[in-house]
Amino acid sequence: MNTYPIPILGFAAYSGTGKTTLLEALLPRLTEKGLRIGVFKHAHHDFDVDKPGKDSYRLRKAGANQMLIASRNRHVLMTETPDQEAHFFDLLSHFDCSKLDFILVEGCKNLSFPKIELHRDEVGKPWLHPHDDNIIAVASNSSELNTHLPHVDINDLDAIGDMIVNFTQCRPLASSTTQKTDAASCDSLSPAFLSVEQGLEKILTTLKTPATVESASLLDARLRILAEDVHSPINVPAYQNSAMDGYAVRSQDIAASLDHYDVVAQIMAGSSFDGVIEAGQAAKIMTGAPLPSGADTVIMREQSQSNEAGDRVTFSVSNNEFKAGQNVRNAGEDLAQNSIVFNKGTRIQSPELGMLASLGLSQYPLFSQLKVAVFSTGDEVQAPGSELNKNCIYDSNRYTVMAQLQRLGCSVIDLGIIEDCESALEATLLKASTEADAIISSGGVSVGDADFIKTVLERIGQINFWRINMRPGRPLAFGHINDTPFFGLPGNPVAVMVSFLMFVEPALRFMQGETNWQAPKIQAEATEVVRSRLGRTEFTRGIYALNQFGQLQVRTTGMQGSGILRSMSEANCLIEVPPQVEMVKNGEMVKIIPLDGRL
Ligand code: AMP
Ligand code: MG
Repeated sequence: MNTYPIPILGFAAYSGTGKTTLLEALLPRLTEKGLRIGVFKHAHHDFDVDKPGKDSYRLRKAGANQMLIASRNRHVLMTETPDQEAHFFDLLSHFDCSKLDFILVEGCKNLSFPKIELHRDEVGKPWLHPHDDNIIAVASNSSELNTHLPHVDINDLDAIGDMIVNFTQCRPLASSTTQKTDAASCDSLSPAFLSVEQGLEKILTTLKTPATVESASLLDARLRILAEDVHSPINVPAYQNSAMDGYAVRSQDIAASLDHYDVVAQIMAGSSFDGVIEAGQAAKIMTGAPLPSGADTVIMREQSQSNEAGDRVTFSVSNNEFKAGQNVRNAGEDLAQNSIVFNKGTRIQSPELGMLASLGLSQYPLFSQLKVAVFSTGDEVQAPGSELNKNCIYDSNRYTVMAQLQRLGCSVIDLGIIEDCESALEATLLKASTEADAIISSGGVSVGDADFIKTVLERIGQINFWRINMRPGRPLAFGHINDTPFFGLPGNPVAVMVSFLMFVEPALRFMQGETNWQAPKIQAEATEVVRSRLGRTEFTRGIYALNQFGQLQVRTTGMQGSGILRSMSEANCLIEVPPQVEMVKNGEMVKIIPLDGRL
C-alpha cells in the first residue's frame, strides 16, 4: 500500500471545545473555495445511523453483516464489526479519493496523523501539543500559549480555513485534471506518516536485486546467496547402503522365519562384498557400508545372536515388527541425480553448506557480497577507548549495526563518527556512495535536530524524512545518494536496532538476492499487560519461554525506554502490538518476533 493519496488532517481537542460546531462553520468556507472535503468522525461504539423499522434496519437485524443501501442521491455501507474495531487506515480506504481534495478527521485522538489542536481556556483542560507530536498547529483563545507551532485565534474561522488550505496544499491538491502522486514531503509541517509496512514497501520498491555473480569457494560461501539453481551431479547417497550396524539378509528368508543363517562376509564402511547373498546367508554389515547383491534388508545387531566363531547367526525378530527393506538407505534417497537441490536466492547456512559439500563440488555461483558503509553522527558521540568527555556518550550504535550487518554476511566499511559539520558529512556520504552498496547512519534525523544533516542529504541525494507509526524508532530517513541506498536511522540505541530489524534487514536481504525470506512471527500468551498506543505499532522487548504445560508464554523485559539498550540484551523477542490494539491483557495471545539468530 502506498501512502494515503490525499492529505488527512485532524482536530485534537477535549470535549466541550466545540469541534463539531467549528467544523460545521468551517466546511462552507472551504467548499466555497471549490474544495471537496471528506469528513471522518469517530463515534461512540453503539452509534447507529439506521432507524428501527426501516427495511435496512430489519435486514441488518436479520443477520446481514454488511448492508449497502443506495438511491439516486446517496449510498451508505453499514458494516458490523462485533469482534474487533476496524482499523483507521482500512476505514480510510472507503473514501473515493479521486473525488476529494482532503479529509478532515474528528476524533481518533490517539491515532498518529497530523492534527490541529483546538483549545479554549474556559474548558479548563491542559494543552495537548506538548505531549503529542502529531500536532502541527494550534487554534486557541489563550494568551498564555508558549509554542513554536503556528497559532491562530480559534474564533477566527478564516484564519483556521487558511491554515487548513495551507497544510493541504503542501501536497499536490487532487483535481480531475492533475494526476495524483504520493504525498510529497512537506517538511516543516508534515513529514510523511507511514505505517511499518508502508515504510518497508516504499523502501523495497526502490531497491535493485544484485547484478554481479561470482564463482566462490565453499569456504567463502557461508551466509552468501546462491545466484543460480543448484542441480545434483550425483545421487546422494551414491549407492544403496546400510543405515545400521547389523546383518544384511534376504527379506523372504526373514518372512519364512529361518532357524539360522550362515555369515558369509563382513562388510565395513568403505569396503564391499562382491558375492551374492543366497538363501539362508547373511553378511555382517556396518552403518554406511554398501548393501551386497541379493540382500535387501538389514536386521540390527541388537536383534541378533551370533555363535562364538561368528559364522552363524540367529535373529529374534517377530514377523509383525519386521518390514522388507528395513534399515536400508537407497541410492539417491537424499538427492536424486539432476534434481534441484537449492533454488537461486537461497541463503547458505550450515545445513546448506553441508549439502553443497555432499555434492562434491567446491565452487558455486554466488551473488557478490554487499558492502555496507556505517557511521554515527553527533558531537556528543565519542568512540569507546578514551576517557569520556564532559556531556558526551560513548558510541554504541555503530557496534550494534556492524554486528547486525555481519550476521547478514555483509562486508562492513566502518566510517567512524562524523562530527556535526556539513562539509565532513557531505564528504563522508559522497565517498561512501562510491565505495559501498548501501549506507547506514544513526542519529540526527529527528525533527528538531541540527538542520545540516537534512540540508546535506537534500543537496546531494534524494532523501525522504519519514515518521513511522512505530515505537521505538519513529524518525527514519531513506533515499539514494548517487544511486546508493541510504538509511538514516534514529539515534536512540534501541530504536536503531528495531529500525534495523524492521527496515534495513529486509532491504539488505533483498539487495543480496535472497528470496522467500520472512521474519519469523509466532503467537504466545502474554503473562502481563502490554500497553501500546492506538495508531502505532509497538515493539515491546519480551522474553518468551515454555511454561510447565509446554505452552509458549511471553513477558516484557520491564522498562521500555528507547535508550535502554539492556532491554534488547535481555529480550529474546519483540512483542508486536499492532496499531489497532491499545492494550494486550494478561492471558491474551500476542504476536512475537523471535530474535534468535537475528542480533
Ligand atoms: P538524535 O536522533 O541524534 O537526536 O539522537 C537521539 C538520542 O540518541 C540522543 O540521546 C543521542 O545522544 C543518542 N545517540 C545518538 N547517536 C548515538 C550513538 N551512536 N550511540 C549511542 N547513542 C546515540
Ligand atoms: Mg544527534
